[in-house]
Amino acid sequence: MIRTEQAQQAAALGDAALDQIREKVEAGIRLTREDGELLFSTNDIWSVCALADGARRRLHGDTAWYNVNRHLNYSNICALSCSFCAFYRKRDEDGAYERTIEEIREEAQRAVASGATEMHIVGGLHPWLTFDYYTDMLRAIHEEAPRLHLKAFTAVEIVHLAKISKRGRDGIDGIRAVLRELRDAGLGSLPGGGAEVFDDRVHDEAFKGKIRHRAWMDVHQAAHELGLHTNATMLYGHVESPSERVGHFMLLREQQDATLLQWAQSKGITTPNAMCQDGVERPAVVLTGPDSMYGTDRQPTQPACETGWYQCAIPLPFVPDDSQLEALYGPSGLENLRTMAVTRLMFDNVPHVKAFWIMQTLPMAQLMLQGAGADDIDGTVVWYDITKVDGAGTHQETTVADLHRAIREAGLKPVERDTLYRRVTRDGAAWQV
Ligand code: SF4
Repeated sequence: MIRTEQAQQAAALGDAALDQIREKVEAGIRLTREDGELLFSTNDIWSVCALADGARRRLHGDTAWYNVNRHLNYSNICALSCSFCAFYRKRDEDGAYERTIEEIREEAQRAVASGATEMHIVGGLHPWLTFDYYTDMLRAIHEEAPRLHLKAFTAVEIVHLAKISKRGRDGIDGIRAVLRELRDAGLGSLPGGGAEVFDDRVHDEAFKGKIRHRAWMDVHQAAHELGLHTNATMLYGHVESPSERVGHFMLLREQQDATLLQWAQSKGITTPNAMCQDGVERPAVVLTGPDSMYGTDRQPTQPACETGWYQCAIPLPFVPDDSQLEALYGPSGLENLRTMAVTRLMFDNVPHVKAFWIMQTLPMAQLMLQGAGADDIDGTVVWYDITKVDGAGTHQETTVADLHRAIREAGLKPVERDTLYRRVTRDGAAWQV
């Protein structure tokens, strides 16, 4: 925790230890694990935010991205009982639900009527639903709304689907087969949830029943190999240390390096060296701006491209209410700002960083857009059951007008995107990219 006196002093004087990080950020040089730890330990949070804001403006100028989307939680019944989770229910518990395919079909119709470009679909690890339910769900939505991008299932759900479809024993081949079937049924990308913090100690303390980080990363690698884009989240502010957050960033950054390098090499694009997790310099893709070496014409961002990658990093603050860890406080506002900023600074090879307003709150997401490195605020959402900040219900909708106002007040330009970050133009519910 930051002591007020120390924080005031540091803000007034600035932390000279950050100078070498500032030089690196300005020169587009990769930050090390030690740099990440310093960014988390300094009292000079406002300088950390300013550095992240500079990096964000170099990549995105004054653009702030949002989308018109709907979230669908098909069931909250879950075989696991993660201690940080307030969403899950056991089958006979009050409030347990599972949506029928007919109900989901109707939700798809409402999505079309509202002009949504994306449906974000996640749920619990349902012990009895069969694999057909998941492919039927995607097909039903796709039939009703063929242009709707289906961003669905965390890596944990994909591993669960491999088990219930009897392909769990096939390891990564089973995961690939499941992803292929889901893609054929309409899956467009993975949302990137369920990562929590990539650390065995944290895993065993807070979400022991869940897959470990290697399995999470394997699912995403398999998705990338199939050409599906994904995101990468981190649920922070519970039992992890700042150093463990940095470890999480390093693992994901290295995986993104490998994916992008493979793609760049296949295109004959040469890459400069950057410091990797093991302290050795290797070729790496460091995004330094739209007009620089890895400009948008040199990234595998097209929807039909041959490889997927992490499009967006999303730090998610832990919300203790109603979870088994509700005795914890959860992260403070300053810690939320700092974590967003460090995410932007450490993920030099991930183009977007999102302030997911549902979990950050809209006022905090606005601050993050203006000065802590976020360039995306997510979307209109409508229904969201996973977390309920400050006693919110399942109906957690915001309007495009509210998103525009929040972005404009932050001095930025709202730009609607689809799931693949293509610009959307619209006339009411009619839209195109
Ligand atoms: S976090 Fe996911 S896997 Fe864990 S209990 Fe909640 S719904 Fe189930």
